[in-house]
Amino acid sequence: MIRLAVISGKGGTGKTMITAALAQLLPMSLVLADCDVDAANLELLLSPTLIRKEPFMGMKAACIDQALCVQCGECEAHCRFESIEYDGDAYRVSPLRCEGCAVCVHVCPAGAITMQPRQTGEIMYSETEWGHLVHARLVPGAGNSGLLVNEVKKTAMRLDGDRDLLLIDGPPGTGCPLISTISGVDAVLIVTEPSVSGLHDLKRVVTVCRQFGPRIMVAVNRFDLDSSLADSIQRWCDEKDISLIGLIPFDHAVIDSVRKGIPVTRAGPSPAVHAIREMESRLEQELAGCGTRG
Ligand code: SF4
Ligand code: SF4
Repeated sequence: MIRLAVISGKGGTGKTMITAALAQLLPMSLVLADCDVDAANLELLLSPTLIRKEPFMGMKAACIDQALCVQCGECEAHCRFESIEYDGDAYRVSPLRCEGCAVCVHVCPAGAITMQPRQTGEIMYSETEWGHLVHARLVPGAGNSGLLVNEVKKTAMRLDGDRDLLLIDGPPGTGCPLISTISGVDAVLIVTEPSVSGLHDLKRVVTVCRQFGPRIMVAVNRFDLDSSLADSIQRWCDEKDISLIGLIPFDHAVIDSVRKGIPVTRAGPSPAVHAIREMESRLEQELAGCGTRG
């Protein structure tokens, strides 16, 4: 199985639109994973049918047994994350603020605090026209999205490990969710846009990717909004020996397809679709040189 992640240095570059189009165009058996768990929206373009869902248990959180608590206030005084407060009646833990360090457990003189599992999200396994989709939902305000990303990838590989390609819609940025996404993948396609911040974020995300060793490819979405900056991105990619495999023009067909909730490649011929088809054939050539990493 080849593992390919579509990522971007920042949100709003068209990464999910491109992932959905590739899901339709790539002539290989797929399993899809939406690793943008903070804002999962690949499902909006692929209309999945849910097969099953499971709770995702994140890190444990402190829990106070009020029957044992002697209201000494030691736990509140020692919690560096201000996760315990006295509400006028009892000391209570805010589960969303608790970082799971267990300091309060150790300082409580009454043995009233234990660490308890907490559900911070759910993982869904669904059917789409182009293969199974593993996607997830993080409870709003819950942390540890990197752990959830890792679980989404592992679930996709466990349930559909016989597929030719794991196609991942990755998170934007360079934080923990991105690192969980690109760890162990064979290739990344970085989607950027022709702006000063787009080039800046591209450089940052390439720096992170290079720590993990996947084949790196770049696509510039809406390149014609600033051809001069698109040229700068092309030159920078050439200098860094990175394949720029796609230049996708601004196209109202993309906006219409997102509004309709379908992959743009399903919406009929248009300049963007033509460019994405060309990019897909270059992507196939690049992937042909990728072996599966351990
Ligand atoms: S486990 Fe740590 S963060 Fe959570 S309430 Fe206890 S001291 Fe605070
Ligand atoms: S440290 Fe233990 S006994 Fe003291 S207030 Fe906290 S939970 Fe209650």
